[in-house]
Amino acid sequence: MAASNQSAAAPTGMNVAVGEPLVRMHGVNKYFGSLHVLQDIDLTVDRGEVVVVIGPSGSGKSTLCRTINRLETVDSGTIELDGQPLPAEGKGLARLRADVGMVFQAFNLFAHKTVLDNVTLGPIKAKGEKKADAERHAMELLERVGVSNQVNKYPPQLSGGQQQRVAIARALAMRPKVMLFDEPTSALDPEMIKEVLDVMTALAEEGMTMVVVTHEMGFARRAAHRVVFMDEGQIVEEATPEAFFTDAQSTRAQDFLSKIL
Ligand code: ADP
Ligand code: MG
Repeated sequence: MAASNQSAAAPTGMNVAVGEPLVRMHGVNKYFGSLHVLQDIDLTVDRGEVVVVIGPSGSGKSTLCRTINRLETVDSGTIELDGQPLPAEGKGLARLRADVGMVFQAFNLFAHKTVLDNVTLGPIKAKGEKKADAERHAMELLERVGVSNQVNKYPPQLSGGQQQRVAIARALAMRPKVMLFDEPTSALDPEMIKEVLDVMTALAEEGMTMVVVTHEMGFARRAAHRVVFMDEGQIVEEATPEAFFTDAQSTRAQDFLSKIL
């Protein structure tokens, strides 16, 4: 049995060895006008680690994700990716965007491009990949997420679950170092949630570094190395999923869990 990638032999994504810091946020503050939306955020995500971010609506989870790929700037503090401070603009910023894949709640695919074009466009335009190479890689990824029979269709012809899996393939096509998922299943019909979570779980098991904002506690228990609980712009608590779900320490986390579990 030839392993096609180095982590194929890993038995499970849970608690596999994780590496050195890949994302490092230190003392990060951000304001929207007078709203202190991120308050002294310290967060490190190691290579190969899966961090699930949970918390009430409006607590700053999306903003946190968006600062990591610099869709939002910060007012103070530092964010490093793979040992380098986030670039402010120009070529460095384009490279950063390639290193940080993002999947949003709304699928954000180009409606007037085929599935295949959606996945190859970034690598061809932003990374200068040859069309044939980009297409070969795209087919591999579309196979992996289970939509390789849809390559010539347009996104509106696909179900929500299929579109979201294409969005994951599109992000992976840039060969990112880390993948950010911001409530990737929140806009999906219930029967499609599992197919997207299964793809994410497989990615986690393959050792992808992931930051996942989600309300899917089953996924958190199954795939996360660590749960980060946010409330009102602060990281209130961090723990393993086991510890967090059975024995949350803060009253804010206990209160939140009592509403969702
Ligand atoms: P979450 O993802 O946890 O629901 P967000 O990060 O989206 O939280 O938002 C945190 C807070 O910041 C909310 O009060 C939201 O209304 C506010 N906010 C988010 N984006 C902006 C923006 N671009 N301008 C002003 N306020 C914003
Ligand atoms: Mg959000």
